[in-house]
Amino acid sequence: GHRPAHLMSPVHVEVRAKSHRGTSFERIEGLVRDWLASDVATLLPGELLYGWESKGTLRDSVESIFVAETSYAVTSVDLVQACLSIHVYSPNTTEAEEMMTAGAEEGQSIQSATVCAMPSASVEGLWESLIFPDDVKNGLLDYIYATILFSKADVDTNIVAWNRVVLLHGPPGTGKTSLCRALAHKLSIRLSKTYPVTHFIEINSHSLFSRWFSESGKLVHGLFSSVQEVCDDDGNFVVVLIDEVESLTAARSGSVSAGEPTDAIRVVNALLTQLDKLKQRKNVLVVTTSNLIDSIDPAFKDRADIVRFIDLPAQDGVYWILRGCLLELMRAKLIAPMELLDLRSLRLSKASNTRRNQASDRLYDLSATCQGMSGRTLRRLPVLAAATYLGGASFDHPPDVGLFLEAMERVANDKN
Ligand code: ADP
Repeated sequence: GHRPAHLMSPVHVEVRAKSHRGTSFERIEGLVRDWLASDVATLLPGELLYGWESKGTLRDSVESIFVAETSYAVTSVDLVQACLSIHVYSPNTTEAEEMMTAGAEEGQSIQSATVCAMPSASVEGLWESLIFPDDVKNGLLDYIYATILFSKADVDTNIVAWNRVVLLHGPPGTGKTSLCRALAHKLSIRLSKTYPVTHFIEINSHSLFSRWFSESGKLVHGLFSSVQEVCDDDGNFVVVLIDEVESLTAARSGSVSAGEPTDAIRVVNALLTQLDKLKQRKNVLVVTTSNLIDSIDPAFKDRADIVRFIDLPAQDGVYWILRGCLLELMRAKLIAPMELLDLRSLRLSKASNTRRNQASDRLYDLSATCQGMSGRTLRRLPVLAAATYLGGASFDHPPDVGLFLEAMERVANDKN
């Protein structure tokens, strides 16, 4: 939609710093700002910038400069008018740690969650690789910015309330969990001036049940007191992921009829109580996913500020995912290099019937055939194509994209 000019969001420029370099992030930010002002006229969202490598200090301290998506611009932004927000970061390479919660019996504990420091090298690029209708990713970021703005302004939450809970639901394999992870990574970059450290806590819902079922309510309490401890440090931002949240919040009425009354109810109650406690905190966000929204307790759903349906990708989305796969295979020299149009150019070429690109047209047709497949299935298609119809990995030289497309068409038709 259209916003008043003074409400325009800034253009976010994400600068990945080289690790183990002495230059401070503040200084790098200044250098990048100067370079942009002197050498760059327009910014294109989603674009990696080049040219800074020739400046000695930038070359020594910077690994990449990326223009992130903005909420208002799909086309290029004039740098003179843009309000720039520059974020310097260096991804962590440490692995996730286990979080233990005491079990029912003396000395017993279960691995109830994992904690990972963000931004994380393992999640770099994930946000960009996820393809959704335009407003999904920006909508989430805008929501966070709004809640942070309200918190900073000290809005009385008894009057204007929010819960810091997001629920993403939809068919399996549509990128919900990946989006939560990528969101934590993105937020850690965007919020690093307010919160130097972001912890991503991934709750292992299944471990909370299993053998310890009769103690599940207690486990939930124990787990969340560990989460609260992480939140105690004002310098931390904490993103808590509860994957397949229906396993913890199966509707209370449903579980009674299924003959397992009290404990399931205790778990839901424990979770709701803990969420209500967490919402007092300014530095936490709870992201949840579900494939079965109908079995989720209404009281939980009611606490989610955003309930977002994530659908199977439409034809454009399918095209963009498959195009990404093919470009990656070209980069890896498994397919001979060949241009594949972006969606805008593809649409233009179809409309005006000029600059047609046969491979792109064919891929777009294939994308229609593949509608109804999840992102996960789509990303598997190239491997299946190579395995089933191109004789495995034994290429003498990289086949051209046409041959590969044919193999993918055959796999897609097999599936239909
Ligand atoms: P879900 O949590 O919805 O079951 P995941 O996040 O586990 O799905 O996604 C599985 C894989 O499928 C991811 O690694 C991702 O690469 C791919 N994928 C799914 N949906 C998309 C999408 N919309 N865009 C790009 N990749 C996707």
